[in-house]
Amino acid sequence: MTAIADLRRTLSSALTVESLIVASGNAGGNDRTMSEAAAEGLLLSAYTAAEHFVREFFFELIDGVSLASLFPSPLRGLDSSLNRSLVYLASKKMDWMLPANTVEPRATTLFPDGHPFLRLKWRNTFSERLNDAKIVRDRIAHSGEQAEASYWLNVAEKQQAYKRPGSWLISKSAEIAAPTSNLKVLISAFESMAVALSDEVPDLDRLLGPIHPVSEGTNAIPGTFKCVRCSTIGITTIGSRLGGCQSETCAPVQDKTTWVYFAE
Ligand SMILES: [Zn+2]
Repeated sequence: MTAIADLRRTLSSALTVESLIVASGNAGGNDRTMSEAAAEGLLLSAYTAAEHFVREFFFELIDGVSLASLFPSPLRGLDSSLNRSLVYLASKKMDWMLPANTVEPRATTLFPDGHPFLRLKWRNTFSERLNDAKIVRDRIAHSGEQAEASYWLNVAEKQQAYKRPGSWLISKSAEIAAPTSNLKVLISAFESMAVALSDEVPDLDRLLGPIHPVSEGTNAIPGTFKCVRCSTIGITTIGSRLGGCQSETCAPVQDKTTWVYFAE
């Protein structure tokens, strides 16, 4: 089974369980305490499944099993266990879960002309969601003071009602108009991440939300940069700083150019 099929199966059953948990949480009393505990367990297992997906998908790219025509692997055709040892050679410890991780730099080394992890670039709202998932997961999985403080400040926003991560998870998301639990938002984010990474032509705006503009001077990465003002495609050298737009409309104006990034 491919990594995406495996994750989809796990997340679709997680969503079924999520609706049961949230419904019984709304009943109040002892049911609420149990629902909070169940929500924490469900988030942990969904997070682990998402992390597992990123790892397995990474090796599918390396082995040339996924998206091989878009991102040809330098190691395709080699034995897959040999490929694993080659990837782990540089550092044994790899943090797989996006966005803050060791996956993107490693992919950049192996695929200098581009790789699907760049599709998550400058999707700030989406990255924040994945970050929240990590903070909540760390708070549930560890009892460290740092994990507690980070959860209390960034996710619970010091609201007494959310002292326990489970209570935040089964509460209604402040971000989405239709009643949706924070737990459901995070589980759906894992699925969107997986589809955005592994589809041939993903609808990134629908899956990941709006893209954040990039200012002149940012280091260019593989992909296309379009001028916000005139839509001219910028001429970029990977690794060097993005310059100003050179079109007839923009070049005479002294303003700094703002670019929009399109990943492959
Ligand atoms: Zn322009």
